[in-house]
Order: sequence, then structure tokens, then C-alpha cells
Amino acid sequence: MDNLFVEKSGKRDRIFDVGGRQAAQQEAFNQNKAKALCMSAKGMQGAFFSFSAAGSDCSKEEAGMNKADAVVIGGGIIGCSTAYYLARAGLHPVLLEKNGIGEGTSSACDGFIMLQTKKPGLPLRMAMSSAKLYEGLTEELGYDIQYRRPGGLVLIETEEMKKIMEGVVKEQIREGMEVEFINNDRIRALEPLVSKDIPAAVYSELDGDVSPIYTTRAFAKKAAELGAEIKTHTPVRGVHIEDGAVAGVLTDEGEIRTDIVVNAAGVWSPMVGEMMGTPIPVRPRRGHIVVSEAVARVLQHEITDARYIAIKHDPSLVERAKDPTFHLGISLSMEQTENGNFLIGSAREFAGYNTDARFDILKGICEYSTRFFPALRNLNMIRCFVGMRPYCEDGSPIISPISTVKGAYIATGTEGDGIALAPITGRTISEMILHRETEFDMTPFSYDRFLK
Ligand SMILES: Cc1cc2nc3c(=O)[nH]c(=O)nc-3n(C[C@H](O)[C@H](O)[C@H](O)COP(=O)(O)OP(=O)(O)OC[C@H]3O[C@@H](n4cnc5c(N)ncnc54)[C@H](O)[C@@H]3O)c2cc1C
Repeated sequence: MDNLFVEKSGKRDRIFDVGGRQAAQQEAFNQNKAKALCMSAKGMQGAFFSFSAAGSDCSKEEAGMNKADAVVIGGGIIGCSTAYYLARAGLHPVLLEKNGIGEGTSSACDGFIMLQTKKPGLPLRMAMSSAKLYEGLTEELGYDIQYRRPGGLVLIETEEMKKIMEGVVKEQIREGMEVEFINNDRIRALEPLVSKDIPAAVYSELDGDVSPIYTTRAFAKKAAELGAEIKTHTPVRGVHIEDGAVAGVLTDEGEIRTDIVVNAAGVWSPMVGEMMGTPIPVRPRRGHIVVSEAVARVLQHEITDARYIAIKHDPSLVERAKDPTFHLGISLSMEQTENGNFLIGSAREFAGYNTDARFDILKGICEYSTRFFPALRNLNMIRCFVGMRPYCEDGSPIISPISTVKGAYIATGTEGDGIALAPITGRTISEMILHRETEFDMTPFSYDRFLK
């Protein structure tokens, strides 16, 4: 049996069990529909990793069991990417995850690496750079993360949405994006199942997708090989601050001494922020995804609609909307997995930390998607999942040092873009920690913008 272990306090701490994966998947589905979906939809059944022990020995020798060059809090895609880039730069970070790797939002989501849905400016520029990093990641991480670049369509249903997209596209072209408006004939040449009633779309061949859970775990695995220590089922209980600077991180096993801590706890980052006296203006923005039965591949591209972009960037539109599906925060996102399942979403709403699925939203998603793809009426929907996007109060991520506590950093607020932005976010935070020049001026995403 090809089990996966990571050393933990002299014990072997099982984090992935290949032999028991079928049972584990069933259990995961019962406990967390989202996790189960991502495993099956992206073909996780056969895809687990084995850690090389070489790196972690080195980590322990140099850092000691209760010392670390840096502690990353949160084993989602952002924390794992950060741990990877820190380890690649020669540091020995410890990553602490209260559950298993990738069991938070990073396994309750789609895997779009869509450039078209990014706000022009720093978000789009970072996404373009991140997409480039994704191209080499399968080789770099030594694991097939299922990165593809099939191109993407933003479908446009109404004149009102066309006007919004004209403004967005103008700015995207100014940023160097390759995007174009296409008519129904061209849409249907690319995707024959799109309704004849959809007059226009914006197309970009740069849009791609990836398996979020594979990517998260591949970052963790490679980070461990390079000397990071990955500790799962290890909740952080407190952060030790001395004279205004990070001194350590508290767990049930004791304190890990460190000068550097990265809060990468996603929607839970405000709780970690409280441990440091650093308020984090992030809250969960819930999303539902409906999963269809598997069929032969009939969808080639990543699909969203203009309403997806409008709602994402302006939450107030939902309150003013008259269309009932719009009022529920529903817009279109659709992809077909390698297994043949359609993942159809989604909705955006603020519902605290409640991840119960709402039937009216699931029904609304099904109804709304058939406006664009009438053939979906013939397909059975077999399950759903609900995830929480880490939404920052001004709609932009926070990727920066926390100036009020020396040695504290934060990487969150990525909302619906965390998968697309993960490589560049991890790399940027590691550059900040190492006092290296970052590719972009990160001032717009600084923590300090909330201190003014
Ligand atoms: C429905 C939906 C669809 C989406 N689709 C896309 C998409 O197509 N493309 C895209 O780019 N993005 C998408 N996103 C957004 C993306 O999923 C998130 O931005 C991303 O997963 C956030 O990653 P994270 O690492 O910040 O958070 P998480 O994955 O939630 O990781 C945070 C981790 O911190 C851990 N943690 C919390 N507190 C503690 C503690 N005290 N101690 C230790 N560990 C702790 C948690 O257990 C968790 O594992 C989607 C999101 C949703 C909900």
C-alpha cells in the first residue's frame, strides 16, 4: 500500500491514505460534499502523492522541532503555495492546518484560471503572471495538476450586460489581454450547445483551468520535499507577540518559535487575525455548485456569463435586481470535468459560515443555466456543494506585511480568484518575507489600506 505520511513530533502522522481512499471518499462526501465532489469530479480516485523524506529531515535539523524560519497558518491553496515558494527559496517553513490539506474553500470550488473575469489593473496583471506560472507548474511540482488552456467564453444575454462588457473589454485590451466579441454563429461554432438566443459573447483563448485540490496538494508535497514541514490536524490556538513582533505560534503540542507568521487562513483569517490583534476585514461569500451526471465530453471551453462578472465586482447589483435568479445572486459558471460531470454554478451571497445548501438557489442555478444551454434539461443533476469565498470588504485581496506587528504577513481576500492567483500570491509573499523585489507594486493590496 502506498500510504502517505509526514513526520510529526517523532510520530508518523497519516495525512493521505491511498489504500483506504474509497472509504475515505465516502466519509468525506458524508462530512463535506465539496471535498467529495472535487475528488471524484477531478479524478482524485487514483491521484495521491508520496512524500520524499529527504527534505523534512533537513528542516528538523536546522530549524529544530519547535523552531521555524516561518510559520504559515492554513493549508489551502494559498498557504500551500506560500510554503512551497518559501521552501524553494531555501527557508524551512512549518505549515499548520487545522484539518487536512485543501479541505477548506480550495476543495469547494471550480478550477477556472479565467483572465476575463479579473478586474483590470493589479488583479488582472497578477492573474496573467500567475497563468504563466501555471504553465510550468506540473513539471516544477512533479505532479500533473491537470492544467489546461482551452479558452473561455463570457456569454452575454442582454443589451444591459453587453454595455457592461464593452467597458470591461476596453480596459482588458488596454492591459494587454487578447479578448474579442463574437456573435452567435461563432459562439456555436466553438460550443454547439449554446442557445441560438444568446446574441454575443466575449472570447479569450488565454483562459484555462486546473484541478484545485491536485494543485493544493502538489504545492504541499513539493514544499515538504524541499524542506517544509506540513502539519495537518494542528489548529493554531494563538500567536505569541513580544514587543510588537512575532515570537511564536501556539498549538496543542506547544509553541513553535518563529519571527515570521503568514495568515493564510482564508475565510477564517479574521479569527487568526484576532490572535495577533490585527483585525482582518474578510467574510465568507457563499457559492453553490450543482454537479451533473457524467456524459461524453461535449463542452470544450470555460464558460461564464456577463452577469458573473457584474455581480462579482458589484455586490449591490443583486439587491437592486428584478430578475428572481439575479436577486438570488445567481450567474453562470460552467465546466465539464475530465470524468464528464458538468459543474454548474453559481451564486454569491453573504450567509456567515453556514454551508447548508439552499434548494431555491440550486433550482435557480439549474433554471438559469438552461437559458444558455437548453440541452441541460435532459441531464440529471446528482449532487451539489457549497463553498465560502474569502471576500474582503473592498473587493480586493490582502497580500502584504501587517505593519502593526513585525514579522506578520497576510495572504487572503482572494474571493473567487484564489485558484487563479495562488502561484503569484505564494511567490509574492515569499519575496516580501525575503525582502526581495516583488514583480508588482503591491500597495493596492496592502493591509495598511485599512489603517487609514
Ligand atoms: C463556489 C466557488 C467557486 C470558486 N471558483 C473558483 C475558480 O473557478 N477559480 C478561482 O480562482 N477561484 C475560485 N474560487 C475561489 C477559491 O476557491 C478561493 O479563493 C481559494 O480556495 C481560497 O484559498 P485559501 O487557501 O485562501 O483558503 P482555504 O482553502 O479555505 O484555506 C484556508 C485553510 O486555513 C485553515 N485554517 C483556518 N483556521 C486555522 C487555524 N486556526 N489553524 C490552522 N489552520 C487553519 C482551514 O482549515 C483551511 O484549510 C471559488 C470559490 C467558491 C466558493
